[in-house]
Amino acid sequence: MDFTYPEEPEAFRSEFRGWLAENLTDDLRGASVMSSEPAQFERLREWNRRLAEARYAAIAWPAEYGGRGAGIMEQVVFSEEMHRAQAPGTVNVIGLSNIAPAIMEHGTEDQKRRFLPRMLRGDDIWCQGFSEPDAGSDLASLKTSAVLDGDHFVVNGQKTWNTLGHLANWCELLVRTDPSAPKHRGISCLLVDMTLPGVEVRPLVTITGEREFNEIFFDDVRVPKEALLGPLNEGWRVAMSTLAYERAGVANLHLGLRSKVVDLLNLAKQTPIGGGRHASDDPVLRRKLARVYLEAEYLKLLADRAISGALHGRPMGPESSVAKLVWSETEQHLGEVAGDVLGPDANRGRWGRDAVYSRAVTIAGGTTQVNKNVIAQRILGLPRS
Ligand SMILES: Cc1cc2nc3c(=O)[nH]c(=O)nc-3n(C[C@H](O)[C@H](O)[C@H](O)COP(=O)(O)OP(=O)(O)OC[C@H]3O[C@@H](n4cnc5c(N)ncnc54)[C@H](O)[C@@H]3O)c2cc1C
Repeated sequence: MDFTYPEEPEAFRSEFRGWLAENLTDDLRGASVMSSEPAQFERLREWNRRLAEARYAAIAWPAEYGGRGAGIMEQVVFSEEMHRAQAPGTVNVIGLSNIAPAIMEHGTEDQKRRFLPRMLRGDDIWCQGFSEPDAGSDLASLKTSAVLDGDHFVVNGQKTWNTLGHLANWCELLVRTDPSAPKHRGISCLLVDMTLPGVEVRPLVTITGEREFNEIFFDDVRVPKEALLGPLNEGWRVAMSTLAYERAGVANLHLGLRSKVVDLLNLAKQTPIGGGRHASDDPVLRRKLARVYLEAEYLKLLADRAISGALHGRPMGPESSVAKLVWSETEQHLGEVAGDVLGPDANRGRWGRDAVYSRAVTIAGGTTQVNKNVIAQRILGLPRS
């Protein structure tokens, strides 16, 4: 399947490519929010503001919240051009992709006007407070409690694995508000100001040396009642729409993966293995490289299928679990093949970092086993085990 892009998205491509050529400076190319030190983070925040001012920070958002109401093909073109230019995205990695859509769907008009423009510019940084030490895949087991006391909820408990929690000043927090209800029904969603007394963030440094994650502790934190997102005790519905948007982002994942595969193929042609031969001449390595190349191309076909479905009005369903699965497993296979091709050099620099980081991608946003359960039940129609 290959798309011939219609005229309109191609016109958008020229316009956006021109804007990037004028605005993106070399020091920003390839920079990542996840691994950035404070000074770098501020440079990225400035870049985020420039994107927002030109209405390029979230082009799919409605114009009234700072977007362009862009269609699917413009969104595809946008991702391709950002990738081609190695332009960093917005600093609100979690906020824009996961939390804003939930606010748009479930928020009051006041919440939308208050939070969305600041989120778009990166003025506020948001994190997602869902997982707990004993509630990950089985999220509905969460225990962090919120008890109504006059005009406030009093929040107590612990969250973990909170991406960007150390930089965030706002948190989309899932809490238990009715302990007597069945576990999916007694949960609510709060939009919590992280500067409130009783909120403590403890950073977790990952094996890559990066500060991405945190634990967040809540000790008698008084959160105003207006912080409720969606109806009381219907936080599960809010959480599910948030996660559906998270999984929908998988349509762009092939862009980074396929260019890494091409980089490795080029390196294989230059890496000597003795006797005047290169890694690309070795029949076993050739087979491994061909396999990882095909997996990445398969991911592109899955993305095209998702885009085609969206163009025909088909909602993103459990197919996103297939794309997530293929992407995350191919990332790990690529790290392994890089090790075979490059030898000890694969433990250093970007290849070393990516190989180690790839262990996380089969966990984040739904683990491999949980996605396989979704595929078994909802696509293959197999019974629950
Ligand atoms: C990079 C990254 C970023 C993250 N960011 C955030 C964030 O910003 N906010 C947040 O709240 N959380 C975040 N998380 C947490 C993430 O959502 C959880 O790690 C994930 O849901 C899995 O939960 P868990 O770690 O508790 O593992 P568990 O759920 O305890 O799973 C342990 C093992 O059991 C398997 N398993 C569990 N249930 C089943 C089942 N029903 N059938 C078969 N096997 C099963 C799992 O696949 C896994 O192998 C992040 C995680 C990562 C890795």
